[in-house]
Amino acid sequence: MSEPVPGIVIAGAAGRMGRRLIGVLRDSPAARLAGAVVRPGHDWVGRDAGEAAGGPAIGVRVSDDPVAVMVGAQVVIDFTTPAATVAFAELAAQARAVHVIGTTGLSGDDIAAIDRAARHTVVIRAGNMSLGVNLLAQLTARVAAALDEDFDIEVIEAHHRHKVDAPSGTALMLGEAAARGRGRRLSALREGVRDGITGARARGGIGFSATRGGDIVGEHDVLFAGPGERIVLRHVATDRGIFARGALRAALWGQGQKPGAYDMTDVLGLRG
Ligand code: NAD
Repeated sequence: MSEPVPGIVIAGAAGRMGRRLIGVLRDSPAARLAGAVVRPGHDWVGRDAGEAAGGPAIGVRVSDDPVAVMVGAQVVIDFTTPAATVAFAELAAQARAVHVIGTTGLSGDDIAAIDRAARHTVVIRAGNMSLGVNLLAQLTARVAAALDEDFDIEVIEAHHRHKVDAPSGTALMLGEAAARGRGRRLSALREGVRDGITGARARGGIGFSATRGGDIVGEHDVLFAGPGERIVLRHVATDRGIFARGALRAALWGQGQKPGAYDMTDVLGLRG
């Protein structure tokens, strides 16, 4: 017997990622759009989700009532805001629906609330859902482990002008990978914002810098700068489709897993 096709709710359907996800789900035979949720009062409410996103009709009306939309859904894919994601975590736990979280800028308290929800359902959270960046994180950990503190580590990122958090979730993920490679936590090594008379760089610290402008989808460099040589690991995203397809892959992988907190390393089989 073939596997049942999971019904997927898109949270934040009118956002940049939400619109992209509507297109990816429309084209996928492996899943179906079960609901599209937007902020209360959004002008998409009541419209066909496919048409609202600028394509053909898909037969699903956009709603601003997440509780009603979650009934009977197997998955919610969520690229929204931290406050909305914490609210969706509770709803997904109640509905025992897989929660795929792409939202970045989550606080420690937000993550604690999401981890509580993960006792009841499968939660897959990643600051970046692309295969390339998750591979880059693995490489970053390996290079950081191979090089000693003579090599300074800097994560340099660039995004479009609308992005509200910095450093990006991906930059932090790469910083965490570099710290892990050195057997430490990022919180112990993270360099503060540099502005003015900063003093010399701390040995072993991991620095971040963020550029914001135009319509840059997402670029990340991990720089290892040592005496007489530099290594740069780079990922450039040119199309948001990589994140949307990664989120769908996570949604499908999450079917039948045990409740718990997972990330793309699990989904892509890159652990170990
Ligand atoms: P966006 O601002 O275009 O979209 C977010 C949408 O969420 C908006 O339409 C907003 O109205 C909606 N929203 C807010 N509160 C809501 C609520 N309570 N219910 C329903 N909808 C609500 O932003 P975006 O570029 O699509 O990015 C969204 C998030 O995803 C950001 O945190 C971004 O950093 C992150 N992101 C992650 C990845 C990844 O691979 N993990 C990739 C791209 C973006």
